[in-house]
Amino acid sequence: MAKETHEFQAETKQLLDLMIHSIYTNHEIFLRELISNASDAIDKVHYESLTNKDILEGDEQFNIFLVPDKDSHTITISDNGIGMNKDELIENIGTIAKSGTKAFLEQLKKAKEENAAVDDKEMIGQFGVGFYSAFMVGDKVTIVTRKAGEEQGWKWESAADGSYTIEPCDKEKRGTTITIELGKEYYGDSAEEDFTDTYKIEGLVKKYSDYVRYPIQMNFTYEETPKDKDGKPIEGAEKVKRTELRTLNSMQPLWAKNKSEVKQEEYNEFFKQQFHEWEDPMEVFHTKAEGTVEYTALLAIPAKAPFNLYHTDYEPGLQLYSRHVFIMDKCKDLLPDYLGFMKGLVDSPDLSLNISRELLQQSRELKVIGRALEKNVLKTLGKKLKNQREWYEKFWNEYGKSLKIGIYNSIYNGEGTVDKLKDLLLFVSSKDEKLVTFQEYVDRMPESQKKIYYATAKDKETIEHLPQMEMLRDKGIEVLYLTDPVDEFCIETIREYDSKPFQSISRGDFDLDDAESQEVKKETEEIQKDNDDLMKDVKEVLGDKVADVKVSSRLKSSAVCLVADQNGPSLTMEQTFSGMDNPMFKARRILEINPHHELFQRLQSLHDNGKDSQEFKDYVGLLYDQALLVEGMMPDDPVAFAKKLAELMAK
Ligand code: ADP
Repeated sequence: MAKETHEFQAETKQLLDLMIHSIYTNHEIFLRELISNASDAIDKVHYESLTNKDILEGDEQFNIFLVPDKDSHTITISDNGIGMNKDELIENIGTIAKSGTKAFLEQLKKAKEENAAVDDKEMIGQFGVGFYSAFMVGDKVTIVTRKAGEEQGWKWESAADGSYTIEPCDKEKRGTTITIELGKEYYGDSAEEDFTDTYKIEGLVKKYSDYVRYPIQMNFTYEETPKDKDGKPIEGAEKVKRTELRTLNSMQPLWAKNKSEVKQEEYNEFFKQQFHEWEDPMEVFHTKAEGTVEYTALLAIPAKAPFNLYHTDYEPGLQLYSRHVFIMDKCKDLLPDYLGFMKGLVDSPDLSLNISRELLQQSRELKVIGRALEKNVLKTLGKKLKNQREWYEKFWNEYGKSLKIGIYNSIYNGEGTVDKLKDLLLFVSSKDEKLVTFQEYVDRMPESQKKIYYATAKDKETIEHLPQMEMLRDKGIEVLYLTDPVDEFCIETIREYDSKPFQSISRGDFDLDDAESQEVKKETEEIQKDNDDLMKDVKEVLGDKVADVKVSSRLKSSAVCLVADQNGPSLTMEQTFSGMDNPMFKARRILEINPHHELFQRLQSLHDNGKDSQEFKDYVGLLYDQALLVEGMMPDDPVAFAKKLAELMAK
C-alpha cells in the first residue's frame, strides 16, 4: 500500500493554525497533554485485558517512555497502550469529532473581530485540544502506532501545512510512538526552552505528570569515574559513560494521602493533568468514608464549563478505581445528570474489578457512594451561596443551566430533585438587576402580593420593553427575568415556592392582588362586556392567528400586547421551538387591547362605521403586528405591514 495524503478537515486546520500561532503561551504543557493521552491509551488496553488477557501479547509492563534526542532535535513519547488502526488515526487525529467545534471557532473569531479582551487560554481550556498541542513546539509530528490485537502498524505524518500522510509500516510492540521534530526555538543550548534536555524533561514530568499511574521512564546518560571493589572512585581513571533507566514520576495517588498533607497547588495540578483541565478548579472535594461502603473521592468543579456540556456528545462521569487500580473512565451513574460537569474519581475497595461495566454501574455500592457525593456537593453549594456569594454567582454563571435542566428533568433525576435544587437557583430580577434566590424574592414581597412574577424573553432588554412591564414597574413589583429557554420550563416544573405560585406576566389570567388592581380588574370586565361585539369582530379579522381578543388590565401606555393562554406553551417557548413545525409547540395567542389608550376609541369608532371596512381591518392588522414586534417576533408579512403603516402615515 502506498503513502496516502489526506487533507485536514477545515475545522482542524483552523485549530492547528490557532495552536501554531501560539494561542497559548505556556508551550511546555504539550508534554503533559501527550503523556496524558498515552496514559489514557494504557488505561484502555488495561481495561480490555481484564476480560481478554491475550490482547497484551505478553507485554504486561505498562509504561510510557520518553526519548529527548539532541542530535536529531526531537522528542519521542512512546506508550504500550491500545494504539490505533488506520481508521482510528484518520478519525481521531485528522478530524475533530466533537460537535460544536465550528461554533467554538466562530465564537473565538467573533470575539477577536469585536476586539473583545479574549482570553485565548480560557477559551481553548474549554475546548481541550490535546494532541494538537504537539504543533506548538514541533515543525513536524510523526505517529507510529499499532493497535493491540492487530498486526498492521501505521505511520502518520504532518507538518501542519493543511495535510497529513498515512502509510503502513512495521511496528513490533503495540501502542503509539509520537516523535516531534522540534522547532528551532525549542532545542539547543541557546534555546529559551530546550526540550531535548533530559533534566528539563524530568522537571516537566515531575511538575505536570507526577501522579500518572504508569511509570514514565527515560534513559539518563552520565559520565562516571570507575569505582574499585569497595565502591570508591579510582583516582586518575578515565571517566566512562553510563546509561541508567529512571522512572520520573512518583505514581503516588494523590487521593490516598490525607487531606491535611495535600497543598491546594497539588490538587490544582492533579486536576489539570488527570482531567485535561487548563485552569485551576473552582472547588475541590476530597472525602474519605468508612461506613457501609468504604471509599475515597476526589472531585472538582472545573473553572470553566466544557464548551460542549449541553451537546449530546458530552460524556459526563467519574473515574473509578479499586485499591488504586483503574477500573473505568466516565462512570455515569455515580452523580445525577445535573452534576455532570463535575470531574474526578472514586476509589473503593468494595468495587469489584471483575464484573462488567453494566453490572458495576448498577451495583448497590455505587448507589450508596453516589448519594453521599451528591449530598456533599449540594451541601457545599448551599453554604457557598450563603457565605460566598461572589463565588456562587461565578459558579452559577458557569453551571446554573445544569441545575435548571436538572429540575426540568426531575422525573429522570429521582424524587425530591426539585426540593434539593430550588434553593440553589438564581435569577436576575427587576430590582437592581441582580441575581436573587426565590427566598430573597419572597422575603421582600409586600404582604398583599400572593404570587411570584416572572417575565420571559430572549434577553433583558426585550423584557424591559414589554408593555406588561410598565405597570409592574410603576407599582414597584419585583419581576424575575427568564432569558434562557430552559428557565420557563424549570419554573413551571417547580410550580410554586413557599406556597406562592409563579405567574408569568405574559400569560392569560393575569391579575395583581392589591386592592387597586382588583378594582381595575372589575372595571376591565365591564368594558369587556360592553365591547363584546368589537372584540369578536377583531378576532374575526385576525382569524386563526389568535385564540382570543380581550380588553387588557395589564397595560399602561401601550396600546396592545400579545400573551399566551394560561395553559400550553408560552410565546417564548414557541420561539424556542420555532424550528419544529409541531402544533404542540404553538402558543394559544391572546391579543389584549388597552381600553384606556386613544387607539381604543379610534377602533371603536371605526367599528361603528362598519366592521367590514378596509380601514377597520387595516387597523386591526397593524395592532396585531405591533404586538408581535414588541414580543420580538416578526409580523407574518413584513412587506404588507410596512405598506399599511406608510399609507396610514401619509393620510
Ligand atoms: P482528547 O484526548 O481530548 O480526546 P486528543 O486530540 O488529545 O483529544 O486526542 C484525540 C484522540 O486520539 C483521543 O481521544 C484518542 O482516541 C486518540 N489518541 C491520542 N493519543 C493517543 C495514544 N497515545 N494512543 C492511542 N490513541 C490516542
